[in-house]
Amino acid sequence: MRSLTLSVLFASWCASAGAETAFCAGSVTVAGGDPALRAETCGFVDKALKGLASCSLVLDRPIRVNIVETMREGCVGLYHCGEDQIELVAPAYAEQERSTESPFRHLSPEDFFASVVTHELAHAAYDAAGCPFETCPVTDEYVAYAMQVRSLSPEQIAAFEDAGGIDRRVSREEFSQIFLMMNPNAFAARVWAHFSQRPDGCAYLAQIVSWDIVFDTERP
Ligand SMILES: [Zn+2]
Repeated sequence: MRSLTLSVLFASWCASAGAETAFCAGSVTVAGGDPALRAETCGFVDKALKGLASCSLVLDRPIRVNIVETMREGCVGLYHCGEDQIELVAPAYAEQERSTESPFRHLSPEDFFASVVTHELAHAAYDAAGCPFETCPVTDEYVAYAMQVRSLSPEQIAAFEDAGGIDRRVSREEFSQIFLMMNPNAFAARVWAHFSQRPDGCAYLAQIVSWDIVFDTERP
């Protein structure tokens, strides 16, 4: 009797899990949201993985994406380090979290959501590359923001650059954990300025993935 109950429970759990999970390219699964949003997210995942692979970042392990309605304040996406899981706030709910100061503010809710998919998958791909210290938050966010902006259309990149307002050379010494925490919007703008000023941004990224370049420093 007991095993029967268990098997019935298991069967119904499987059915509902199957119905609410979309299987996308590259062993990525998407759960949460409605079927249309999950299908749309799979399209964004596919495009994001191709973009990352064309720029030195290959994701070659299963990742689970959960679409949620809320996260902590100001947060629209999160990659859980070491857990192969990403949380994304659905486009309809992410708007209220997007800062009016954000250099991404001109993007439509769907385009912004797609760009966050790239940002979080870049975190997942860089996580596999590891980091020479316990954590590398500055390098991690550099990679994610560079790939997020690179995933935009030329017109969207031009609008991002206008909003960021940086028209000077940016040096590698200008990135720090304090700056990242104090002003993530300005950090994102500075990342793109620095990345796009490299003669070959993707070759530069390959050096980051192989630890030849690390923005973080070891903390005592
Ligand atoms: Zn990030």
